[in-house]
Amino acid sequence: ERKKLKRLRSARANTLDGAAIELHANIEKPQDIVEAKENGATGIGLFRSEFLFLNRDQLPDEEEQFEAYRAAAVGMKGMPVTIRTFDLGADKQIKGATQVSSNPALGLRAIRLCLAEPQLFRTQLRALLRATHYGNIKILIPMLSSVSEINQTLQFINATKQLLDDEGVPYDKAVKIGGMIEIPAAALSLGVFAKRLDFLSIGTNDLIQYTLAIDRTDEEVAHLYDPLHPAVLHLLSHVIATSNKLGVPVSVCGEMAGDPAYTRLFLGMGLRQFSMSSAQVPAIKQRVLSTSLPEIVALIQKILRTEEPMKIRELLDKLNA
Ligand code: PEP
Ligand code: MG
Repeated sequence: ERKKLKRLRSARANTLDGAAIELHANIEKPQDIVEAKENGATGIGLFRSEFLFLNRDQLPDEEEQFEAYRAAAVGMKGMPVTIRTFDLGADKQIKGATQVSSNPALGLRAIRLCLAEPQLFRTQLRALLRATHYGNIKILIPMLSSVSEINQTLQFINATKQLLDDEGVPYDKAVKIGGMIEIPAAALSLGVFAKRLDFLSIGTNDLIQYTLAIDRTDEEVAHLYDPLHPAVLHLLSHVIATSNKLGVPVSVCGEMAGDPAYTRLFLGMGLRQFSMSSAQVPAIKQRVLSTSLPEIVALIQKILRTEEPMKIRELLDKLNA
């Protein structure tokens, strides 16, 4: 059994008909890359950098952040390490920052908080850009909803690059900047995101929350949180198909990506890159290895045309059989 797992770890994640699928890991701390590699992840698709901030009184300074980002990049030995700028302010509060709003999920969260607290953001961007010199780092921006936020963010990044240039500090001048697609407005105006950003990553946890108006932290409504709601499936399929059409790399990094029940669904929608908790990588790889894309396309089209939840579940069972 252990030998089988070991073989699975080093096997390429190809479908039966030969499509190459990237399976990346989500991490919270640089040390987590050990588990990611043990499970056969070929990159880090989501480093939730806000975890460097949690459960402490003092914010990490530029040096501490730089060391954390560099350690992850060096440890992954040239494999991609996608580091998301702080997603603070909703379920993850920090002490001493801005007031908690009455509706934090709709409030000053993630990129909104960063743009409102430029000092916090500039420090992180400096640390991130400096770390790009030591490995294959990509920068991912959470919770973007509009063109003006994208433009402001890119201006911050360019200004930080300029400062580093002036100081003669090395960094990867071609560092890729990506955006999370986790607000329905972003999914429905994808063109402007694809035009300005180098890659996209779909955050299904929030995309479902905002599409269905279900607080993802509220147990009272947890039974209504449905990844298979036809509206959610439409958005996912639209984002993946449009990104593919425009030639912009797209991945899914929410919980759905690590659930084997949805692997074929995503593959059939055209997804070729997944990011999940490390422990899920072997199970998802097994699903990929057992899937033939030409055989599932018709059923996927049928699922996307279906609006009855019961029927969608039936078809999904058939897809997974
Ligand atoms: C998501 O929203 O799906 C996501 C990956 O980000 P987080 O869970 O950290 O909000
Ligand atoms: Mg999110």
